[in-house]
Amino acid sequence: MSEKTHWLNFVAGEWLDAERHIEVEDPSSGKVFASIACASDTDIDAAMVAARACVNKGELTRHRPLERAALLRRIARELEQMVEQGGALLARENGKSLADAQEEFAIAARYFDYYAGMADKIEGTSIPLGEDYVDFTYYEPMGVSVQIVPWNFPVDICARSLAPALAAGCAVVVKSPENTPLAITMIATACQRAGLPEGALSILCGYGHETGAALVAHREVDQIVFTGSVPTGQAILRAAADRATPCVMELGGKSAAVVFADADLDNLMDSVRWGIFFNGGQVCSAMSRMLVQRDIYDQVLARVITFAEKMGSDSVNFTPLISAQQQQRVLDMCERANQDGARLLTGGKAQIGDGYYVAPTVFADVAPGTELFCQEVFGPVLAITPFDSEEEAYALANATEYGLVAGVFTRDLGRAMRASRALQAGQVFVNEWYAGGIETPFGGIGLSGFGREKGQQALYSYVRTKNVAIRVPKA
Ligand code: NAD
Repeated sequence: MSEKTHWLNFVAGEWLDAERHIEVEDPSSGKVFASIACASDTDIDAAMVAARACVNKGELTRHRPLERAALLRRIARELEQMVEQGGALLARENGKSLADAQEEFAIAARYFDYYAGMADKIEGTSIPLGEDYVDFTYYEPMGVSVQIVPWNFPVDICARSLAPALAAGCAVVVKSPENTPLAITMIATACQRAGLPEGALSILCGYGHETGAALVAHREVDQIVFTGSVPTGQAILRAAADRATPCVMELGGKSAAVVFADADLDNLMDSVRWGIFFNGGQVCSAMSRMLVQRDIYDQVLARVITFAEKMGSDSVNFTPLISAQQQQRVLDMCERANQDGARLLTGGKAQIGDGYYVAPTVFADVAPGTELFCQEVFGPVLAITPFDSEEEAYALANATEYGLVAGVFTRDLGRAMRASRALQAGQVFVNEWYAGGIETPFGGIGLSGFGREKGQQALYSYVRTKNVAIRVPKA
């Protein structure tokens, strides 16, 4: 890995240092190993003004869209070259496994390829109004898109919003997460090498309440794309109200897997591994609740305990949480779950060592209405609750204010279809948690937010419709 210890902000084609720096820790040891410039007000303004100039000059839109598609493909090729080096850097700052970090760069490249395929297919419609009129619509880019990225998948989530925004012809100012701001800068390097016009992208690091708040309130902002926690999303929505700025909000979740007695339990355990123990459970769409039909309740508990304990001794895939603060938050929630009467089956404690590890944790008999049942933990903590009837299962699954994803495990196709209608969430997984991919639209309802990322639908988050109605002059 590179010996570099200080990183810079990317401001409209220039790499700039700042007076203040932000320190970056290695979560597996708790030791600071690098720093990054903390964007100044001047940097924020320069990035936004350059983005506006890029939009006004049509830097991304004045040529044929196929050239934008080619540009996105070049960015994808650059990112593919970075898988090894970028993955190592991301693993170090985030604590995730090397394989998972490398996969994030591969996924980022895939986003650019996917939306390159759409850049020249953003077509309007023609609307018949009789022979005296010609009427058509076309899509214009939203303009200057401010994108605020969280620390759990910084490279993946940055690419997820940046690629469709550039495909649509927007200029983008990214606010990188202060905990993991390093690997994401490589996306700027990839864009620069691929020939993205200056001004079309800036990536600034800074604290949320300073840099993030300044960007969303900036006079040049045309759109806000936010991925993060509910309270921050709500603060941003309040700020957005001042300028009636359109937002895409990807917030948290407390998603449930409904497991019926006829489920394939080997298959279920694979979903437990990815659903709640991947990335230390720090996944917005984690399978943080499991509702299990009473007939197989004890059997499932036994298998989950064995699996969680095995995971806790897996030296590669058992990874730390992002920070001491996050570790303490998770442990406090475990403590309160105990007080609320949930039955701790395994974990619930910090793992020995200086890093921010929490043992894979499983609670059974988690009662509806309690904090662990209703609130996002953002850690490796699975809350299990029994149910008897199908109707009860869906009512329990829907009994939170979130609605990001949900899952059902059954061999009965009719029941799977009933579940997919009954479960209130933006995505429903049948027999495999995280089934789908970058091609499938993702986003929530309720407190999980609104708007969709991924898939073809996401591209339309980055454009607005203009209608042109022409009165044809009489002969
Ligand atoms: P967070 O809300 O604390 O921070 C997210 C980003 O917002 C960071 O870059 C932060 O600096 C910035 N920010 C903070 N305050 C701000 C403000 N006032 N104005 C503008 N920006 C501000 O969230 P986090 O702790 O980084 O991430 C964890 C949360 O994100 C979890 O709740 C998780 O569910 C959610 N998340 C959702 C998705 C999704 O796609 N739905 C994906 C990943 C994470």
